[in-house]
Formats: sequence, structure tokens, C-alpha cells
Amino acid sequence: MNNIQRGALAALLIVIVVIAALAPAGIGFLFAQRSQQQEQSERLNTVANAALYRAEDLTRRLSGALGEIGKVAAAPCSPPYLKELRRIALTHEQVRDAGAYDRDGRWQCSSLLGAVSAGVLDGLTLPPPDWRSRDGVMAWYGLARLPGGKVSLVMGRDGFYIAADPSLYVDSLDPDGDPAGGVGIINTDVSRVIATTPATDAAAVLAVYRAPPPARDDDSPYIVRRSASMPLAVVVSAPHQSLRQRVRTLPWGWLLGGVAAGLACAGWAAFFIVRRLSPRGQLSDAVRRHQFIVAYQPIVDLATRRCVGAEALVRWKYHDRIVRPDHFIPLAEHRGLIQAITDQVLDTILLELGDFLKRYPEYYVSVNLSAPDLTTHRFLEVLGPALARQGVRPAQIRIEATERSFLDADAAKEVISAFREAGHAVYLDDFGTGYSSLSHLQTFRIDGLKIDKSFVDTIGQDAASSSVASHIIDMAATLDVQVIAEGIEREEQAAYLHARGARFGQGWLFSAPLSAAEFIRYAGRMRGA
Ligand code: C2E
Ligand code: CA
Ligand code: CA
Repeated sequence: MNNIQRGALAALLIVIVVIAALAPAGIGFLFAQRSQQQEQSERLNTVANAALYRAEDLTRRLSGALGEIGKVAAAPCSPPYLKELRRIALTHEQVRDAGAYDRDGRWQCSSLLGAVSAGVLDGLTLPPPDWRSRDGVMAWYGLARLPGGKVSLVMGRDGFYIAADPSLYVDSLDPDGDPAGGVGIINTDVSRVIATTPATDAAAVLAVYRAPPPARDDDSPYIVRRSASMPLAVVVSAPHQSLRQRVRTLPWGWLLGGVAAGLACAGWAAFFIVRRLSPRGQLSDAVRRHQFIVAYQPIVDLATRRCVGAEALVRWKYHDRIVRPDHFIPLAEHRGLIQAITDQVLDTILLELGDFLKRYPEYYVSVNLSAPDLTTHRFLEVLGPALARQGVRPAQIRIEATERSFLDADAAKEVISAFREAGHAVYLDDFGTGYSSLSHLQTFRIDGLKIDKSFVDTIGQDAASSSVASHIIDMAATLDVQVIAEGIEREEQAAYLHARGARFGQGWLFSAPLSAAEFIRYAGRMRGA
């Protein structure tokens, strides 16, 4: 993987993790918002219903009081009449004042101030009413200069009136003590605002009334409700929440749930991606998907140059690249994947060369084993039956073991002798590169050793080290073990090694590692030669 691909992958990873984190958090946020809107809409509805109920009730009571004045038999503004007015004002707690006026709207008397002759109401005239019903009831909204002071709502009919405090329409609308926002009451016949809660702007209430939000719009901060029986409507607006209130009323459950789910998803995505992209993850994948192929490097008899067998060398087919074993065998050993790889190498050998080996019993294939395969009998138990099924002789599969695989020397010794008893020759690989090759040669009873390429490389170059190969060959002869020289690239190396007594060799001089088909052709050519 080059740097650009790595960068692109890292970017992709970040994008996926961010999406994984944001999606549930976003959904949580949307739900939170939705639930907050629904709650607000429910609150607005409740307040609107209460406000409308109260407005209708108040209107009914005021009309009732007005009706009672109409029934008073005494002459208008006479002492018994005034007495009746006072009784009516007293018995109707919503009524602040009651009184009478003449045809021209001039004040005649009031329950609070008595007859006009007292001088206080002199010359006071009612303006034209703000509203007039079909049955003669009139209303004045917001008359200021009236008995009792303050702004009053006045309802009148046939020369008598009652006055009330308009804030009665809107007070105590919010039993929770939670500011309900604004409430405004409107006379729909004349589109006049009758009353509003203190901080509410009448013009704004009217504007909302004139352009009401759609009925099913849950996120509108307003609601308009009309009375079915009276020319009344209420407009309720949601409270303006401070930031702190907003935060307090947020549905934290949804929000935190979403964020927690987001973090969990992000963590999972990151873990999954990192695992998949890590060398270990990719190697596990490769094992699962059988992405290994085998190359066969011919081993030749140095005297005749005839092919006697091949070493199986595993490769990882990673997309369209071939990865060399040095790049993944150490990781596979470290991560416990090597045994599965060994099994796949064996399967491949038998699949590709099984028939060939059965037909030509003089050829063998040697397999490289790592420490785990040399500490237990597991591979041997896989190998025996597999060869029997294919009709391949045990001697046709040989074992190569490096010093590195002798970590547990006792176990290795035991397993090596089991391989040999089963008929598999065992070779000590990379001979001379470790610290104790010699002692191993004495401890383990083996069939041969492979002279490492580094000693073959120096042949003919540097007299001192080139003799190492020669010494190894002598020693092998003394111990009566076979020698295979590795990495022979030049003719003079082959000639030298042969002259010193090495029987077999392997290297580019003869052939690079080949595919199975190429190897079969190569062996055939050698036979024919
Ligand atoms: P090795 O067993 O010493 O294998 C010989 C290596 O030298 C191979 O490299 C081969 O391709 C290379 N080679 C052969 N002739 C020449 C030559 O003339 N010149 C040069 N420059 N190189 C030559 P490869 O295939 O990369 O294998 C590297 C190592 O990976 C092997 O070293 C072996 O220790 C290990 N290995 C390969 N296959 C397996 C396997 O199936 N299982 C295990 N456990 N290890 C394996
Ligand atoms: Ca080897
Ligand atoms: Ca070797």
C-alpha cells in the first residue's frame, strides 16, 4: 500500500467513523427536537383551550349581569335602581361597575359613584362602541376614563352598562407557574384585541390571528383557536425561553441516547476498520479466503543437473500483488496463523502436484515449517492421511526447519523424529546463519542441511568466507547428512560446491521458483535431457 492509498484509506476511515458517530447522534437530536416540539405544541393547546374556555365563560357571565340590570324595575338612576346596581356589581365578582347612560351616550349614574348629579360624571360621554351584536349588545374595549379608574372593558345595552377588568380574560391562565408565553383574546367580528397578558404585544397577536399557522404545524410557536359559539378567538404564543431554560427543557434522554449510540457506533466502526485494515486483520482475511499460492523452486543434482524435487515457497496473493513470505510469515507466526497457512500450502501442493508425485515417485517436494508445526504432532496428523488419500509416498514430502523453529528443543526433537519415522526426511534450513547450527546438528537427528545463500554468495569472491561452505560440506560428510546448497546464481558456485562434495543445489542458475505447471514442464525437460 503506498502513501497515497494509505492517506485515502485514513480519510475514508475518518469519514466512516464520523458518519457512524453523527448518524445516531443526529437521529437522537431530531427525536429530541421532535419531542420538544410536541411537548410545546401540547402545552400551547392546553393553554389555548383554557383561555378560550375562560373567555367564553367570562363573556357569558358579563352578559348575564347585563341581563340582570335590564330586569331592574326601578326608574334608572333612582336610589332603588342604584341599590340594585350595587347588588349586581357585588354579586358578580367579575363586574367592577354598573351604570346607565342616556341616548346620546352621556353618563347618568354608576354603582360606584352614584348619580351624575354628584358632578363627577358630568359631561362624560361614551364613544361609539367598538362592537355591536345583532341583538343590540355593544362593547367598548379599553375605555380609560371610567369610574373605578383603570382601563375597562364595557358592555352595554339599552342605556345601561357593566364594566369589567379586561385582564380577567387572561389572568391565571397558567396554573403551572411556567410562563405560558403570550395570550391574546380577540373579537373576531371586528378583529379587535380585547385583552392580552401583560408582556404581550396586541399588534403581534392580531398579526398572528390574521395569518394563523397551519393547523397541524407542530413546530409553530403560535396557536390560534376560535370559539364555536361566540365571536371570540385566542392566540397563544410559546414562551421565549432563555438559553438556560432551553437547555433545561431539552429531552436529554434522546440526546444523550443518540450521542451514546453514536459513540458506540463510531467505536465499533473504528475498531472494525482498524482491525480489517491492520496487517493482522488482512492476514486473517487472507487465511479465511485461501489467498495463498505456492511457487516451486527446483532442487537439482549438482552432478547430473537433473531435477530431484522442489521446495514449496508460499506467496500471498493480495489483490493483484504477490507478497513474499518474508513480509508475512513472521507476522503469521506471531499471530498464530502459521499453522493454517502450512495446511493451505500442503493442500495446494497435493492439488497441483499430487498426480505428478504419484506418477513420478522419484520426485519430492520439501515444505518449510515454523515453530508451532514442530512442537506438536498436529501437522503430522494432517499430513499422513492427506498423502494416503492422494497415493503420494511419505518420502515425497520433506520437511525444512530453521533453527528459529527449535524454541522448544525437546518438543522439536521429538516431533522431528516422529516425522522421520513416518518417512519424511528432515532438513536443517539456513544452516550456518544461527548461533548454534553446529550443536543442533548434533542434538537433532536429521537427514540433511541446507547451506544458506550467504555462504554460497561469497564463493569465488573472498577466500576467507568462501571456505565456510566448504567446511560445512566436510562436516556434513562426517556426520553423514546430505547437503543442499541454496541460492546458487553462478556456474562457478555450482562447480565449486560440487567439487567440494555438495550433492544437491538450488538457485536461479537452475531455476527461479516456478508455478506448478512450469515445474512439471521443467522436470520433464530435465528427464529428457
Ligand atoms: P528459504 O527457505 O531460505 O527459501 C529460499 C528463499 O531464497 C526463497 O525466497 C527463494 O525464492 C529465494 N531464492 C532461491 N534461489 C535464489 C537465488 O538464486 N537468488 C536469490 N537472491 N534468492 C533465491 P522466498 O520464497 O521469498 O522465501 C523466503 C523465506 O520464507 C524462505 O526462506 C522460508 O524461510 C520462508 N518460507 C517460504 N515459504 C514458507 C512456508 O510455506 N512456510 C513457512 N513457514 N515459511 C516459508
Ligand atoms: Ca527453506
Ligand atoms: Ca533457506
